Amino acid sequence: MTALIQRELENRSGLKLKLKINDNRSTMLSVKWEPDCTQVSLHRIFLKAPRNVMEALACYLRQEDESIAPSVRAFIEDKLKVIDYSHLVDKSKLYTQGAVYNLKKIYDELNEEYYDGKLDLAITWFGKPRQRPRTRVTFGLYHDGLRLIKINRFLDTPTFPEYLVAYVVYHEMVHHVCPAYTDSKGYHHIHSKEFKKEEAKFRHFALAQRWIKENQANLFEF
Ligand SMILES: [Zn+2]
Repeated sequence: MTALIQRELENRSGLKLKLKINDNRSTMLSVKWEPDCTQVSLHRIFLKAPRNVMEALACYLRQEDESIAPSVRAFIEDKLKVIDYSHLVDKSKLYTQGAVYNLKKIYDELNEEYYDGKLDLAITWFGKPRQRPRTRVTFGLYHDGLRLIKINRFLDTPTFPEYLVAYVVYHEMVHHVCPAYTDSKGYHHIHSKEFKKEEAKFRHFALAQRWIKENQANLFEF
């Protein structure tokens, strides 16, 4: 299979390639241009890439396009949605019981209320408690390949009302439900229209928005 795709890419690009297929979630595509041989590492999703993606990839290898074509980006994003690396998550390192809030409980309730308990995501606190950072801080993150939500432990104080913590958790869940995508013009949509519509279904959405505004928490990101 590797030989086949190597031949196809060599034919399309006119370059001599040294191709490696990887299963590393952080390396979808890496290229090292060397005078006599171009070294390419491709994620295994490319084994089933359609022709237009292979053609765009060949253009990129020939260095005709400076950046990776939208069609290739869209292909990667699309495939990433179904690749499941959740088995790589070390469950023993997840901790959900904070000093004030239990993330698992909050997540389970949201999952039940909004998704009939159908989402299967992991959740954990990250960072240090009660340390108010001076710069921008990330309230929460969602790692899509890992199916993992991470919530900043600095929210684990009574300063932050429960509906706000729940809102941050819900927001990260919506990242799973409405994944980011690249449109045909190459524009990357993280908080897309569909995302915002879904996010606004949160029961305390208006309240949480107001809290964020009043507490100038818009300095934070999630
Ligand atoms: Zn977000």
